[in-house]
Formats: sequence, structure tokens, C-alpha cells
Amino acid sequence: MNTHLLPALAADSRGQDSSRGSFKARHRRRLLRADLLTTAAWASVAAAVALWLADGGATGFSTIAGSFTALGIVAGLAGMDLVLLMLLLAARIPLIDQTVGHDRALEFHRKLGKPSLYLLLAHGILIAIGYGMAEGLDPVSEAVSLWVLVPDMWLAFVSIALFIAVVVTSLVAVRRRFPYEFWYAVHLLTYAAVATSLPHQFSVGGLFAEGTWQRWYWLAVCIATGAALLHYRVLEPIIATFRHQLTVSRVVPVAPGVVNIEMHGLRLNELAGTGGRFFIWRFLAQGLWWHPHPFSLSAEPLQFDAAGRGLLRITVRNLGKGSAQLAGLQPGTKVALEGPYGIFSTAARSRDKVVMVGAGIGITPLRALLESTPFAPGNATVILRGRSDQELYLGQEILELARERGATLFHLTGQRSARNTDSWLPESATSAGHRLKDYAPDVADADVYVCGPAAWARNVLQDARAAGVKEDQLHYERFDW
Ligand SMILES: Cc1cc2nc3c(=O)[nH]c(=O)nc-3n(C[C@H](O)[C@H](O)[C@H](O)COP(=O)(O)OP(=O)(O)OC[C@H]3O[C@@H](n4cnc5c(N)ncnc54)[C@H](O)[C@@H]3O)c2cc1C
Repeated sequence: MNTHLLPALAADSRGQDSSRGSFKARHRRRLLRADLLTTAAWASVAAAVALWLADGGATGFSTIAGSFTALGIVAGLAGMDLVLLMLLLAARIPLIDQTVGHDRALEFHRKLGKPSLYLLLAHGILIAIGYGMAEGLDPVSEAVSLWVLVPDMWLAFVSIALFIAVVVTSLVAVRRRFPYEFWYAVHLLTYAAVATSLPHQFSVGGLFAEGTWQRWYWLAVCIATGAALLHYRVLEPIIATFRHQLTVSRVVPVAPGVVNIEMHGLRLNELAGTGGRFFIWRFLAQGLWWHPHPFSLSAEPLQFDAAGRGLLRITVRNLGKGSAQLAGLQPGTKVALEGPYGIFSTAARSRDKVVMVGAGIGITPLRALLESTPFAPGNATVILRGRSDQELYLGQEILELARERGATLFHLTGQRSARNTDSWLPESATSAGHRLKDYAPDVADADVYVCGPAAWARNVLQDARAAGVKEDQLHYERFDW
């Protein structure tokens, strides 16, 4: 048990009363922001096509060869716009992160992978057919002549090969066969793919010729995307690491294979790392510094003074080689951080009532959420699931918090049912016919936070839906990439 961590926030900001009833309005504003961002994303594709229409591109349809070329140009513009959107979704821009969450942004990013590749391939093939027909060449000879004779075109061919490599290694079935570092290294080639695709966009064809406003628009979009990536993925993490000066203060075993890692640092009041959000951590010790680990806070940051000196805590389970090594971290190890990210926090609340369901190491961000998210006594239910009491990590702290804050707490331990694989409950509860709403009768009118192994979480979400919980009340933190 670890009771020395105290909430950093003053009691009223935990919002026993202050936030009550205001979640709906905040939630509506967030949904509106999400709608606006989605509209802006699709409008950018429309704008790319409009650039070409405004340049009289549709006149190309007067011949068959011209039609192929015209379709090829439209496919290229739309494909490139989707690639830029994908980069923006992966840039960890706070507006996007706080509106849809890091995982939803990445999910959308992944969904755009195949369509953008298909459009870019179509671009190459249609242009080769169109130009070839105009010059009396077959598409393959035309492609060779483009490579050899047209400046910057060979770079475009390299670019498409790189895009294929990135998309193929990102397909779930392929990705799972390789270590994260391999996938990450290949994924970095996206930047090379974009860089090698740019020269021919500005040097070949008239659409982005010097002096055109289309050229300025396209340059502005490309530069803004690059600047967002540089700022949020490179500069911000470096600045945050220097600003907060995090250092490991102690590593405390919690259960077999699970440790609390406590870090002290500066200006934690500027960190905005509240309950349930996660950071990407790098422990700057030999052999570890190049491992970026996403871990959620398992307690609210504890502040010692008004200058923001204080403590942070994460709880880590040895789910792989890298995380197992963290149990041996020495006090004094410096820590680099990126974040905070995600909306597995009060930011996602839409109702006054809240139900938190966690299993295994997924329990730990719920502990931080329980500590800080506003609710009136009686309006929160916490359900912890593990094979044994020992697997209910931080269970004693959660018990104390639940008592202090007036939350109802259930410990559900035991093996899962071998017969009923749709159940997230232990065998005893499954055979008694229990469902989520038996533990949380008001669940249909609550926000439901779920964190735990993927298959188990899917079953909880399914049970919640069956109990009448709508999609926008469901909040699920994935611990996988
Ligand atoms: C949003 C989020 C929050 C998480 N919070 C916690 C937590 O509070 N406590 C906890 O114990 N675990 C948490 N995890 C899971 C944890 O990040 C992984 O179990 C851990 O990084 C595995 O590292 P490894 O080196 O032991 O595993 P390996 O499989 O050997 O991983 C090798 C490399 O892949 C990286 N990697 C592995 N898993 C992930 C991942 N999910 N996302 C990105 N990179 C990854 C590692 O950092 C490492 O660099 C969280 C995951 C996510 C996505």
C-alpha cells in the first residue's frame, strides 16, 4: 500500500459540486469541435480538387487521353491531401488530441492509409496511360520515359515505393510479426516518401507553376503540416523534458511483476497531466533511453509548492522486455517525456454519473481518474476485475479513495468462464447470469470508462451497449499500438 501520495488539486477543483450538470454542455462543445474538424478534413480534399477545376483542369476530359491524365491528376491531389491529413493526425496536435483523443486520431490515421496509397497508385498508373496515349506509347514505356527524361520524376517513383513499404508494414497482420522498433523505423520512411514526392508536384505540370495562387496554397498546406510535426513531435517534447526535469525518485514493487515508478520534477502545475491521461516516457539510462513507453498516470500529480515542484507516479507491469527492465531503474535516472495525451479523463465526461471498469494493469489509470474526476457521492461505481486479489493492482488505494469520495466499489475475482467467451465477468458471476447493469443499475445514464486487455474490454463495451449505453458515453483506453 502506498498512501503518501495526496491529490495535488484543491478539493473544490475535484468538482464535487462545481462541474455537476456542466458535462453535457462541455460534451456538446467537444462533439461540435469534432464535427468541425471532420468537415475541415474533407473540405481540404474538396479544396485540392477545386484547385485543379479553377485551373481549367476539366477541359482535359475533351479527349480520351486527356481524361486519363485528368483523372490521374485528381487522384494525385486527393491522395496527397490524405497523406498530409494522416501526418496531421499523427502530429499530436493538442486541438485534435483533446477533441477526439490520441487513439481515435490514430485510428482515423490508419484508416486513411490504404485509400491514400490506392489514390497515389492510381495517380501514377492513370498519368502513365494518359501521357502514353497522347504520345503513342504503352504505359510501361511511358513510365520509363518519364523516369529518364522528366526532372524530379525518378524521385516520385522512389516516393511511391516508400509509400507501399510503409502501408504494407502497417497492415495489422504484417505489423504484428515485427517488433515495434522495426515498424517504427519503417514508418519514419513516411517523411522520406513525402519529401521525395514534393519536387515533381511543383516542377512537373502547370497547376503549381510559379506565380500561380494554387502553388501558394499547396506550399502553405505542406509547410503548415511540416511545422506542426516539427513543433509537436520534436520541439515540444524537448522543451517539456528540459522544463520539468523529471528524475526517478523511487521504484516500489506493487505486486509480482508490477512496480510504481515515482518521479520528482519541476513546474508540474503546467503539465496538465490529470487523471487517466498518458505520457510517452523515456528513461535515460543505458540500454533504455531509446525505448519510448506510453504509460498512464496512476495518481494525480502531487505538488509540493506553488512553483510546481512535486511528484508524478506511473504503475508499470512487465508486459515485455523493455517494461520488465524498468523494475531495475535507479533513483536519479533522468526521464524524457512527451504529452500528456488522450482523453481517458474528465475531458471525455458527458454525464454526472460515472462507471469505471478496469482489469489487470488497466486498473491503474482508473485509480487516477477516480481520484480527480468530479461526481457527487453515490454517482460513481468502480468495478475491478482480476484473476486474484493480487491482480487488483492498487486495490487498497482504490478502496480508500472510493470510501473517501462515496463511490461504490466491486472486486470481481476468479477465472473467466470457459464456456461463455463473451463474458468479462468471473465464472461464478457469469453462471449466476450477472451483467454490467446488475453492478451499476444506472449505467445507461453514465459515462463508462473501460481499461484492460483488448478482448476483455470488447466484452465489457458490448455489455454496456446492451445495457443502453450510447457510443459517446463509452470511453476506452487501448494499451496496444
Ligand atoms: C495509451 C497507453 C497507456 C498505457 N498505460 C500503461 C500503464 O499505465 N501501465 C502499463 O504497465 N502499461 C501501459 N501501457 C502498455 C505499455 O505501454 C506497454 O506494455 C509497454 O510499452 C511494453 O513495452 P515493452 O518494451 O516491455 O514491450 P515490447 O513488446 O518489448 O515493446 C518494445 C517497444 O515497443 C514499444 N511499445 C510496446 N507497446 C507499446 C504501445 N502500446 N504503444 C507504443 N509503444 C509500445 C515499447 O515502448 C518499446 O519501445 C499503455 C499503453 C498505451 C498505448
